Amino acid sequence: MNKDDISKFDISTQLTMLGRDPAEQFGFVNAPLYKGSTIIYKTLDDIEARRSRFSYGTAGSPTIAHLEDAWTQLTGAEGTVLSSSGLGAVALALFSTTKAGDHILVPDSVYRPTRNFCNQMLARYGVTTTYYDPMIGADIERLIGPNTSTLFLEAPGSQTFEVQDVPAMVAIARRHGVKTILDNTWATPIFFRGHDHGIDLTVEAGTKYLGGHSDILLGLVTANQACWPALRATYDAMSMLPGAEDCMQALRGMRTLFLRLKEAERRGLELARWLSERPEVSRVLHPAFESCPGHAHWKRDFKGSSGLFSIVLAPGYSRDGLAAMLDNLSIFSMGFSWGGYESLVIPFDCRTYRTATHWQAEGFALRLQVGLEDMDDLKNDLARGFERLAAAS
Ligand SMILES: *Cc1c(COP(=O)(O)O)cnc(C)c1O
Repeated sequence: MNKDDISKFDISTQLTMLGRDPAEQFGFVNAPLYKGSTIIYKTLDDIEARRSRFSYGTAGSPTIAHLEDAWTQLTGAEGTVLSSSGLGAVALALFSTTKAGDHILVPDSVYRPTRNFCNQMLARYGVTTTYYDPMIGADIERLIGPNTSTLFLEAPGSQTFEVQDVPAMVAIARRHGVKTILDNTWATPIFFRGHDHGIDLTVEAGTKYLGGHSDILLGLVTANQACWPALRATYDAMSMLPGAEDCMQALRGMRTLFLRLKEAERRGLELARWLSERPEVSRVLHPAFESCPGHAHWKRDFKGSSGLFSIVLAPGYSRDGLAAMLDNLSIFSMGFSWGGYESLVIPFDCRTYRTATHWQAEGFALRLQVGLEDMDDLKNDLARGFERLAAAS
């Protein structure tokens, strides 16, 4: 079945059909894994004209093409390129829209390694970065200068979950000929399709929900028609592609992406509601909660929420108390990535690195990822942790 036929189906159906073709695979449901560097040409004419669907390992393989084509369709893009990590995908997107002398705008709530890439790498190539309040909305216009090439967005923001006013900011960027890049890792195309809202390039850390099992590193960048040639050329110039096995595992993860995200949403909401009623918790930062900055934007633009959110604890607890809570959890573990099947928690403090806004928290802040464990087991684990927090503070 070709792409156009599949596009009429619901996204959950598409996830089961894209990126495979049993008729070409001796009837096997899934496509085989292609690994390789060299592609062989039959004749002098063919090699001189590079007449072959695939020309060289870095330029693609059937396995890579299956994932690229599937993601292009799921995101409504013109094309997709892959990278060996989510951060690599951010770098590819930014390299494709910037040149020496340019200025870019990046939200203060951006994924921290993206900030590092702008400050450490882009700066060395003569690209300057201004960080802005993620809630700035249409006022972004006053930060656009004659050399501004790119407006970077991340909705919701890392750790603090501010949901940006994507349509308002895209409209301003368009008027000034500024390209927009959206890091859409939290929502995935299941809950938000950036290109439908006028975004030029979207970035997804496939490491998170697409992989879904904490066992791959992968990034995906999509572009609309106007930005696709530059993105593909940037990718071809650098060829920082993922390994074939990781692409294969991403295709496998894709089959259950809808199911897992729907479940992550249900569990995330249940755990966040439970936490919001605990006396130890001062605030819940979850886009589906009114207490979250930009909640109205989420409600207007997003189709759902995933299973990653933050809480701010009530004031008065000590670091010893926090250590007693976190060091002795039975189910939740402490670790930085997310989107797998296991529940995670990390402490964070944005005061140490944000520059355009003042993050203020009345108590310790924690980010939680809800996994697939039993909900009562998860609540009991946290409840016992809260007892230790209070006792040791
Ligand atoms: C994890 C993450 C990335 C980077 O993904 P890696 O594969 O870990 O490099 C980028 N953006 C966001 C929002 C992320 O959460």
